[in-house]
Amino acid sequence: MPFPTLVVQGGTVILPDRLLEAGAIICREGRIAAIGPASDLKFPADARVIDASGGYISPGFVDQHVHGALGCDFMDGDADSVRTAIRGHTRHGTTSIFPTTTTGTPAQIAVMLDVCEEVQREWKPGDHARLAGVHLYGPYFASDKIGAHPRGYERNPDPTEYLAAFERGIVKVATCAAELPGAEAFYREAVHAGCLATCGHSNASWTEMLRAYHAGMRHVDHFWCAMSNVRSVRDRFREPMQGSMAEFVIMYPEMSTEVIADGCHLAPELLEFAYRMKGARRLCLVTDANRALDMPPGEYLIGPRDTGERLISDGKVGRMPDGTGLASSIVGMDHMVRTMVSQTSAGVLDSVRMASLTPAERTGVDREVGSLEIGKLADVLVLSADLHVQRVFTSGVECERS
Ligand SMILES: [Zn+2]
Repeated sequence: MPFPTLVVQGGTVILPDRLLEAGAIICREGRIAAIGPASDLKFPADARVIDASGGYISPGFVDQHVHGALGCDFMDGDADSVRTAIRGHTRHGTTSIFPTTTTGTPAQIAVMLDVCEEVQREWKPGDHARLAGVHLYGPYFASDKIGAHPRGYERNPDPTEYLAAFERGIVKVATCAAELPGAEAFYREAVHAGCLATCGHSNASWTEMLRAYHAGMRHVDHFWCAMSNVRSVRDRFREPMQGSMAEFVIMYPEMSTEVIADGCHLAPELLEFAYRMKGARRLCLVTDANRALDMPPGEYLIGPRDTGERLISDGKVGRMPDGTGLASSIVGMDHMVRTMVSQTSAGVLDSVRMASLTPAERTGVDREVGSLEIGKLADVLVLSADLHVQRVFTSGVECERS
């Protein structure tokens, strides 16, 4: 039998709508078969029983915006690098991952999609996080909001390139700066292909956001980072001052966004503000981590090994070498959850939701993953009482955490 029957008990089960103390879950054939108070459930005699030791039994985390780990970037161009980076995030509780492109040449992006298809095809439960899809993030960025990405590789959306990418079926999240020529056609095709259409690395005005919204755009990448504000839109259009991406996301209930809650990018009041304004159903936690995750401080590249942009890891966060800004995070999703719990009013239930069910819903994979519910795939974490990852299961099979 490929999937051993699994019981996880002795902890607080994090359900979609509540915390269940002294709970247990039973997993059969890779799926969740029963959930309830441990005293009410009959454990199968052949089950492997895991004790959560008073910690939490949590859904696996879903990361829709992530570039790398353990020295590898998803743009490196080979399947082993992709697997290594995914393993780096699996240790931190991510069980569904969306490898994310940086800016790059058309060939580099096509190769990234090739190798992600290969890794997805060859994946088995227990290997590492499942590759749930690709986030086509670079290259359709605005030049004035390119941030830490490789410069000179950003460009306007090219239908030949993106239609070929969407055709593959692996792209589930698709980013484009809303002010670029052709952005609306990009969003329409992205939605047609079943993607979450998102605006990022953009200096868009309210008017441009509204046009994008009508074309199907419903999400903005890493709120407050590499996005427009009233001041930056004023630099483009003068007076009267106009609304920006920030006001648009806050005012439209259907819009979702994400925060990099590593404790370095955003102060606690901004995390609290984003949580209170958007709520746990419209705010995702993402790592946006680069290849320096779980690596010593030093110099690294964001993006491809040969043409990536330099960044400095100080052991806490990535920084641009010229000191002008941050260059993505170097910590995993467990860290993001702990930051939300300790620095905001979100609590364990909503913080975990923002790292699991909400991104699963937004990316369209919530029928299979994202929460502990009967029938879903048994992607389960055992967390300590202080939210450190103890064990990781995909489809009920334990992932090695070395
Ligand atoms: Zn970014």
